[in-house]
Amino acid sequence: MSTFKQIVLASRPKGAVVAGNFRLEDAPVPSLADGQVLVRNHYLSLDPYMRGRMEDAKSYSAPQVIGEVMIGGTVGEVVESKNPKFAVGDKVVGMLGWAEMGVSDGVMLRKVDTSHIPLSAYLGAVGMPGMTAWYGLTQIMQPKAGETIVVSAASGAVGSVVGQLAKLRGVRAVGIAGGPEKCAYVVNELGFDACIDYKAGNLIADLAAATPDGIDAIFENVGGEIFDACIARMNPFGRIALCGMIAGYNGEPMALNNVRTFLTMRLSLRGFIVAEHMDLWPEGLKELGTLVATGKLKFRESVAQGLASAPEAFIGLLKGKNFGKQLVKLV
Ligand code: NDP
Repeated sequence: MSTFKQIVLASRPKGAVVAGNFRLEDAPVPSLADGQVLVRNHYLSLDPYMRGRMEDAKSYSAPQVIGEVMIGGTVGEVVESKNPKFAVGDKVVGMLGWAEMGVSDGVMLRKVDTSHIPLSAYLGAVGMPGMTAWYGLTQIMQPKAGETIVVSAASGAVGSVVGQLAKLRGVRAVGIAGGPEKCAYVVNELGFDACIDYKAGNLIADLAAATPDGIDAIFENVGGEIFDACIARMNPFGRIALCGMIAGYNGEPMALNNVRTFLTMRLSLRGFIVAEHMDLWPEGLKELGTLVATGKLKFRESVAQGLASAPEAFIGLLKGKNFGKQLVKLV
């Protein structure tokens, strides 16, 4: 009997995620029922939201069940099909989890065109992270040309797209990222107007220098001190797209001191979950796909090799060891 590898949640983390929270298993390749498709996954996407699913806490979605395959976005190739909508050889994007293979009923599986867009990009700039950037920018921040926006985790999968989409709309884009290498990339490769290295220790002064006209909109990915420093520089009627708070995903305290600015500057803040806005995905993915295919939207990937490397790569992602979209190559 042929088998494939998969990774299940072995235990819930207490504080930081450790490798022992996961277990690598062999699973038999199943035989298909009518309507099903067997996919060989080429890449697994590692995303910060997975940290939330590992926890048994009240959130926007149910927790990951212990002993089940870790949730995850995948791209791959159909290797067997009993579904008339999919043929062997089709390239597909789906949610088949931390596994080398997966079976789908075709409902959450989408065929993708790899003639001008690399398959892996459907997990990044032309996938969920790209859509997250597109949604927060166009639906919540709605910056006008000439305004200033600030994006935290700016070199990452989501942040890198936010700044580039903003630049294409004539907006001043300022990034915040960890370290000089990531900041140089954000400015020189992605075209942001400035990038602040929050690890350099001068966050407040550096932010003031990079935003001489204040901040009109924030795309928040991190939370904590970084978010607080940005709030203090908001202009009247500023908008905040609250996308993520990765600095607090292990339960770290995230105090805000500048809350009064919400009143004095009449700010609005909206948290959002991109999966709740599927109606807008076709519009967003069309723009993102065209920009990637024509080389106007750049992206970078950190690729771990082999499924067994997924836990360490995921732990690294939560500590900023990734540089761009974190993927695991499975074939
Ligand atoms: P990234 O590719 O940006 O990787 C995560 C980055 O976060 C790291 O590289 C690191 O960058 C930064 N980071 C990690 N820990 C800290 C910390 N303690 N303080 C400051 N920065 C930290 O990930 P994504 O682009 O996939 O996700 C970015 C954010 O978007 C996350 O908060 C995620 O949860 C959120 N998200 C929300 C969605 C939604 O629907 N609301 C959907 C998708 C993502 P650096 O080295 O620069 O610090």
